[in-house]
Formats: sequence, C-alpha cells, structure tokens
Amino acid sequence: MIKKNIEHLTEQIAKIASACERDPSSVTLLAVSKTKPVSAIQEAIAAGLTEFGENYVQEGVEKVTFFKQTQPEQVLCWHFIGPIQSNKTRPVAESFDWVHTIDRAKIAERLNAQRPDELRSLQVLIQVNISNQASKSGVAPNEVFALAKLITSLPKLCLRGLMCIPEPTDDPIKQKEIFAKMAHIGQQLSEIYPSVDTLSMGMSDDMTAAIETGSTMIRIGTAIFGRRGD
Ligand SMILES: *Cc1c(COP(=O)(O)O)cnc(C)c1O
Repeated sequence: MIKKNIEHLTEQIAKIASACERDPSSVTLLAVSKTKPVSAIQEAIAAGLTEFGENYVQEGVEKVTFFKQTQPEQVLCWHFIGPIQSNKTRPVAESFDWVHTIDRAKIAERLNAQRPDELRSLQVLIQVNISNQASKSGVAPNEVFALAKLITSLPKLCLRGLMCIPEPTDDPIKQKEIFAKMAHIGQQLSEIYPSVDTLSMGMSDDMTAAIETGSTMIRIGTAIFGRRGD
C-alpha cells in the first residue's frame, strides 16, 4: 500500500510540475512519518524515499537512532517539523539534519550552541505565520528578515528558507495567494542570502497550489502512510 501510494504521489507531482513547466526533481517529497512505526518507514525507503519528517522529539530521536544503528549504510535525511520547546532543543540539534520550525531567536541560538562539532551544520527554515492566525506558530512576514539576520550569524546553522502551515481552505485561488506571498518573501531572502533555496509548503490538500507557486518541498503524511490515530 505504501509503495503504491508513493508511486501515485510521485506521478501526481510530476504531472503538476510539468504542467507549470517545472522540473519534477525540483520538488522534494518529504514523508511525514510521525506516529508511524519503523516498519512503515522501511517500506517507504524500499519505495525510494530518503527524506522523513517527524513532529515529536522523543519519537523522532528514537527513529533516527534506530536507522543509524541498524542501517548505517542507508543515507537518510531527517527533518524536524513540529513545534520546538526551548528545553527540547538539544536532542533535536544532536539527531536531526533539518529543522523547519524556527520561530524565535532563542531556539536558533540554542540549536547552534548544541549542534555537535562533528556534524555538518543544521539546515534550518524559518516558520512563517503566513495566514496571520492568532495563536499559531511562526513569525509574522515582516519579522522574517530580522530572524534571518540572526540565524545567518550562527556558524552551526545554515539558513535554507521558509516553511508555512497556512489556514486550511478548499479554495485553490486562496491557497495560491497565500503561497505566492511565501514565494515572494523567499525570493527577497534568497537575494540577500545565497544559501536560501527552499520553500517547505504544501500538504496533501494543497500540494497543487504549492507546486504551482514554487514550493520545493511538500510534506505528506496520510497520503503515504494512511490515517493516523490523531
Ligand atoms: C502532520 C504534518 C504534515 C502531514 O500531514 P498529513 O495531513 O498527514 O499529510 C505536514 N506538515 C506538518 C507540519 C505536519 O505536522
């Protein structure tokens, strides 16, 4: 089932990308494996995926450790995509390759200080509260540049771009409006910081709009692994 789901999604991504004259390989499929067992991740690896996203620190660290110990030859890339509390930054800095949810200076500074020297820099995205939702994570669009300036002064972090979780809507025009705002900020940011090349936006219900507006990473859970208990 997981293999079939991945084949189907890969085809869909290729179709959407080609229709808007983008190279399908410019869109990374990030498999969101939160709450799913390692056996499910193994099936996804067998189907060709290498990028995985986790939301919960302890669960994520356990999976990263499992794969490093049991299949060290397997090159996987682990993305932390959940909210981060400042007392949980150390395990994230020690285990993950990417963090998508930087939304304040304190988190960036702690991750930088706690990133082990022997590891490559942590690849990070600034989470933007692009729909301006009360009580949602992420910085306001006009705060992105100050946080980016701080992040790029930290040697163990590499700023790669932006991430958002927009307010859900079924209207593709509204979806595209929001994603276009992200793309615009991302473009401005990449003109200042050449390391910026990533827009983590788009999930199962809005991946078409996201790819059409320039997403380089779509985050998909349910459509790969099936429904979660949450
Ligand atoms: C859970 C989650 C996803 C995937 O959601 P699905 O609806 O299962 O595809 C994507 N992004 C983030 C930040 C998530 O927490």
